[in-house]
Amino acid sequence: MTPTTATATTHVGATTPDRLERARQDYADRNIESRRLHERALEVMPGGNTRSLFYNKPFPLTFVAGEGSVLTDADGHEYVDLLGDYTAGLFGHSDGRAREAAMTALAINTSVGGIHPAEQSLARLMCERFGLGLVRFTNSGTEANLMAITAARLVTGRSHILVMHGGYHGGLLYFGNGVAPWNAPYPTVVGRYNDLDACRQLIHTHADDLAAVLVEPLLGSAGCVPTTRSFLGGLLDAAHEVGAIAIFDEVMTSRLGPRGLSHEFDLQPDLKTFGKYIAGGFSFGSFGGRADIMNVFDLSKPGGVPHGGTFNNNVTSISAGVEVLSTMYTADIAAAFTARGDELRVNIADVLARHELDMCITGSGTMMSLHARAVTPTDGHTAADRDPVLQEQIFLGMLSRGYYIAQRGMLNLSLPVTDDQLSGFLGALDDLCTELATDRPV
Ligand code: PMP
Repeated sequence: MTPTTATATTHVGATTPDRLERARQDYADRNIESRRLHERALEVMPGGNTRSLFYNKPFPLTFVAGEGSVLTDADGHEYVDLLGDYTAGLFGHSDGRAREAAMTALAINTSVGGIHPAEQSLARLMCERFGLGLVRFTNSGTEANLMAITAARLVTGRSHILVMHGGYHGGLLYFGNGVAPWNAPYPTVVGRYNDLDACRQLIHTHADDLAAVLVEPLLGSAGCVPTTRSFLGGLLDAAHEVGAIAIFDEVMTSRLGPRGLSHEFDLQPDLKTFGKYIAGGFSFGSFGGRADIMNVFDLSKPGGVPHGGTFNNNVTSISAGVEVLSTMYTADIAAAFTARGDELRVNIADVLARHELDMCITGSGTMMSLHARAVTPTDGHTAADRDPVLQEQIFLGMLSRGYYIAQRGMLNLSLPVTDDQLSGFLGALDDLCTELATDRPV
């Protein structure tokens, strides 16, 4: 895998706010039914949604169907889905295998209220695949990170966590604005991604209080900002020097390479967290790693503490997860798929290089982000410093050409995406860049 920072050397941001207004108007004109549904949703949900990511101006699309890698919206438009539900939608929209596995298990017992055998099957698959000593399940990636932090705080007897500016570890652990009131109230120290010296200094300054260093091996939500083995390895070493626990958040990046991104870097943190695609579309989270840390949740041991959760071992997610890791996304499939993503990123960089727009692409494997800025971002601060008008025009421009990506520019491949669809995407991006760089009307 090549964790590229492929950049197009480009020059101008040939975009204007009124051109953006026209693009929004065009979007509104094409999506009458989505607008109507959004207006109805506003009556019963704040902002009209229950996942804040899905707010965009003038209103978000509502999707009513999906097949393979194609989504259909409420007005009947079809889109090649290149968002892949922020990595959770790895299998596209109609792969029946995880569903079948869940249905088979549900037909035997819907809600066990006790142990069932699939739990240890999935636990074994996860331990083997991701190099974990022991593992536990949760309902989401957020919860997995909260529990990993809890484990670190219990084991170290300390209170603080160190995270990266721009890091996203869940709805209660979002550091795009540094420390923020919506976060779980852990005393938090915020470092700068890829700045090892500064992070080392923070770790040593807070040595006596620091329970955990929590980091993504690719700064995902902030814009798929890659890092290096020396940064991650340096963080790991610094954490250990002060007796803190290193947690790598692989909720998104465990899909990269045969065993996840930490393994690609040949690094073994104390704990890793997981989620997203592993239950094949059903809700899921997991945390695991060093047995001596995870055993804090073994009630047979002196001082063992509880880790509760009615749906931690729910039949649906666990059975689907067994199917995913044993057949649908094996290490071999993951390795080949990751290489496909690397190739796409190089091709995107080639397209961008043909145009005089301030745009670049970053990422690793099948996770990537288009940035409305000329220079490759290296951390959460630089990733946020981009041209918001151009960024929105990229989003709306790709939608109008039939390609669904994140408003903030993120793309995550799903397995059913075909080479033809990717060629089509490259052509559409080329066309959009041509349009944005000239006076051609939107
Ligand atoms: N960690 C990372 C790196 C994530 O990207 C996300 C979700 N985007 C989470 C944790 C939270 O996972 P969930 O949405 O399942 O709570």
